[in-house]
Amino acid sequence: MATRELEQPDVAANLATVNAEIAAAAEAAGRPADSVTLVAVAKIQPAERIRPVLEAGQRIFGENRVQEAEGKWPALKADHPDVRLHLIGPLQSNKTRHAVRLFDVIETVDRPKLARALAQAMDKEERRPDVFIQVNTGEEEQKHGVPPGEADAFIRACIDDFLLPVKGLMCIPPIGEEPSLHFALLREIARRNGLDELSMGMTADYPIAIRFGATVVRVGTAIFGARPSVDQ
Ligand SMILES: *Cc1c(COP(=O)(O)O)cnc(C)c1O
Repeated sequence: MATRELEQPDVAANLATVNAEIAAAAEAAGRPADSVTLVAVAKIQPAERIRPVLEAGQRIFGENRVQEAEGKWPALKADHPDVRLHLIGPLQSNKTRHAVRLFDVIETVDRPKLARALAQAMDKEERRPDVFIQVNTGEEEQKHGVPPGEADAFIRACIDDFLLPVKGLMCIPPIGEEPSLHFALLREIARRNGLDELSMGMTADYPIAIRFGATVVRVGTAIFGARPSVDQ
């Protein structure tokens, strides 16, 4: 009997649909389509699901765990050396050297201890991935990210004290809330701090995020289909 795991979604068609929606949303916002970078979120997806997305031309991928990414990507990168990886999940200070080695963008910097550890890891590894500051726009207790009221000071510290290559901000709006308020808040914090990049928007809301100025959207389900449950 067929199980859900055996159904292979047409990831190349899905990717084309997402790219078309990004272009349409950008055009509606009066922006060029190439002002939005698609990060294909490959967390939990096995390598055989990722390969057809690579073969369809996608080169920028997101992962939320350093260890999982270290297991999957060296082999995939051997075939596609121009791949760029974004870390979109929480990073522990003791994993920073691993993260700096593998990732090209680290989107989840949210506290001084981590910022300091990252700066040291970049010096030791002689590699400087771009950095985004994660802002907890919903001020949810269980969520990562710097609180909005502390964002300006933390951004300044990352740039001036830790000398990190800060390129932009990232947020994950609370589930079940209207995301546009969070997108607008993130855009305003970026504007007043002179940052150009905004990583916001997932499968459920990336066209809205583009309307609010997203330059990076992180889309998993719309490309890969539903993620296999990790509980099973
Ligand atoms: C899983 C994840 C995504 C992608 O979510 P989808 O709803 O599958 O598009 C985006 N951003 C972060 C931080 C994630 O953990």
